[in-house]
Amino acid sequence: MSDYIVLVKQVPDVTQITDNAFDIETGTLVRSRLASVINELDSQALAFANEMRRSSSGKDDKVIALTMGPPMAEEVLRYSLSRCADIVVLLTDRSLAGADTVATANPLAFAVRKIVKDILKGSSDYYVVSGMQSVDGDTAQVPPQIAEELGLPCIAYVTGAEFKKERFEFTRIISGGSQVVAAKELPAVITVAKYEYPLFATFAASRQANRTEIIRWGSDDIKASHTGVTGSKTSVIRVFPPGKSTRKCQQVGDAKSLAKLLVDSFKSGEAQAAEGAETKTKRYTLPGKRADRFDRSFEGTKKENDSYKFLAGRLKELNITEVGQIDESCKEKILAVSKDYFRKKALEDMINGLQLTGPSYTGEVWVMAEHSDGEMHPATFELIGKARELADSLETKVGVAIAGYEIEPIAKELIAAGADNIYIIEDKLLSVFDPTAHRKAIADAISRYWPQIVLYAATPQGRMLAPMVSYRVGCGLTADCTGLNIKDSSRNGQIGILLQTRPALGGNVMATIRTKNSKSQMATARPGVMKRLPADESRKGKVIRHKVELSKDDISLEILKTELGTGEVNFEADVIVSGGKGMQNRDNYERLVNLLCSGLSKRLDTEVERGASRAAVEQGFIERVHQVGQTGTSIGPKIYIALGISGAIQHMIGVANTETIVAINSDPNAPIFKQCDYYVVGSVEDNIPQLVQALQES
Ligand SMILES: Cc1cc2nc3c(=O)[nH]c(=O)nc-3n(C[C@H](O)[C@H](O)[C@H](O)COP(=O)(O)OP(=O)(O)OC[C@H]3O[C@@H](n4cnc5c(N)ncnc54)[C@H](O)[C@@H]3O)c2cc1C
Repeated sequence: MSDYIVLVKQVPDVTQITDNAFDIETGTLVRSRLASVINELDSQALAFANEMRRSSSGKDDKVIALTMGPPMAEEVLRYSLSRCADIVVLLTDRSLAGADTVATANPLAFAVRKIVKDILKGSSDYYVVSGMQSVDGDTAQVPPQIAEELGLPCIAYVTGAEFKKERFEFTRIISGGSQVVAAKELPAVITVAKYEYPLFATFAASRQANRTEIIRWGSDDIKASHTGVTGSKTSVIRVFPPGKSTRKCQQVGDAKSLAKLLVDSFKSGEAQAAEGAETKTKRYTLPGKRADRFDRSFEGTKKENDSYKFLAGRLKELNITEVGQIDESCKEKILAVSKDYFRKKALEDMINGLQLTGPSYTGEVWVMAEHSDGEMHPATFELIGKARELADSLETKVGVAIAGYEIEPIAKELIAAGADNIYIIEDKLLSVFDPTAHRKAIADAISRYWPQIVLYAATPQGRMLAPMVSYRVGCGLTADCTGLNIKDSSRNGQIGILLQTRPALGGNVMATIRTKNSKSQMATARPGVMKRLPADESRKGKVIRHKVELSKDDISLEILKTELGTGEVNFEADVIVSGGKGMQNRDNYERLVNLLCSGLSKRLDTEVERGASRAAVEQGFIERVHQVGQTGTSIGPKIYIALGISGAIQHMIGVANTETIVAINSDPNAPIFKQCDYYVVGSVEDNIPQLVQALQES
């Protein structure tokens, strides 16, 4: 049957961070101080591929593990051999270092081509399998970009595979539910979101793993087209510690105190700043529009801002009002006092920068609309709000590109939300989301109009589509941004560029990134962070139809089943009580969640709705429509109570706008305790009846 090329990566072990892993001066995490391990999701991908091989009875099928990294990355290949890999390949070369996702995906795709040619003898009957993302990058961009380079279908966020009628059917996570799909043709790329059946190494397998030869390839062996720093399309300009949580993170010892806090929080309605929300900054204006000719207060880094401020002060002292008046003697006078700020070369660059007043990129600011059956994903409106702000600063228009079938009626709503131009790409073949067909349609529109910025929602769909589109049109992409700001890097000749800020290394550091060597700057943005504007029905906009030639061959996936949440739920309620997998079973969920809901409803005299984590929904504790989070509903109640919920990022994204978050969890190290206001360490079975009693008595 099929062979499996599994991508494995060595990453820092972010689960074992100690204080000495941080640089005292900068407060940022030093990667080299952390142990190296296999990326957990890649080890799940290995087990997943092994199970695919077993379930299709493909005893002779090969599992080939491929990694790219420094020579020490061979450790993850030994790990793979000791679990299930038959052959392992290490792609290692100094020239591959410092790569972003484009310059990682590209050489890996070329290595896959070489594996297929040299080891699989040109067979097309194989799967490329990988974890959905790595903990150090957290981008989820590399596998779809490998698929794009190789021209293969990509099935992302897979949680299960069933071998039926001589092919695999995959269950995958989608917004609002799950879906069963099959690749129309092989080869295909699969990314694994969750597979909780780990493989263990036996003593004999470990010994064998140490004896097996590792195939080592360098850049010359694969001849990739984009590698290392030079082949990258983004660069990190700043790494800094994440801001302190705006949550109180206060442990509460007894039910009586918790009941009092709940009542007080509800009454005071104290507004919490949303976790991870963008900090308000002064609105950017282009240099040509600033009152002071030498005002460069929108530079990307503090150092650049300070240097320009210092320069502006000296120019003022010298009575210089135009850049043209800065002659050699003037420069010498400035250099005589500027040692702490800049030297000669930097001064020349800064003066050149002062001559630039218009933006480095041209074109509109675009949002990629995400919708299902004519209903827009709320994140699209949030992105339009952000795009409006960016476009106003850059003095350009907001465009929204939307691909689908019979979608024109949506245009009005998008214009009311802040868009100027709606680019409609309509085709029957686009009626359901197929990554290959949609990326062709969107990439075609981008290449026709070249917007200067393109924003996608960091939903499962957006995080699959954006990497494919950006790779296809040759642009950089930054994943899961929580901050998007227009800034200058005048010294480097860049005006009005998009700085993209995002959490990395499991949220332990923040990184600010800029695009390079690209005609357009692209980012996916975390839902729930950017702010939607109030709808303005009087706004006027234009609908522009964009035609793309599509055929049935552009459809890569067969969609076999889609399960979406249905039914009524009132997530506008002031209080939401959610149960997670820690509720153990449906009976417990119903008994305890209902008990707390009615206790709170009586005491606070308000409506209380039930919510759930994705894991609780998957366990069948409650219907999917109650799911809160990235692929459920994002909510913003006065009080959110999480019962037996660990605090996974995909869950917490959905409650970021809540005023007060309360958690009850039996694990004293539950991650949710660092993301909530009040918490109780203890079981839900003990604590909920006590809390309800205390509410009655309060
Ligand atoms: C692409 C993608 C999208 C996703 N979208 C979402 C989403 O929208 N929403 C979502 O919720 N998840 C989502 N997930 C899943 C998410 O990553 C987590 O797996 C999920 O949130 C975990 O749910 P949980 O906290 O209920 O379960 P677990 O992580 O298993 O946590 C259960 C918790 O219960 C505690 N516990 C156990 N017993 C008790 C007890 N008796 N009393 C008290 N506490 C107890 C445990 O200590 C543990 O902390 C998504 C994942 C992916 C990959």
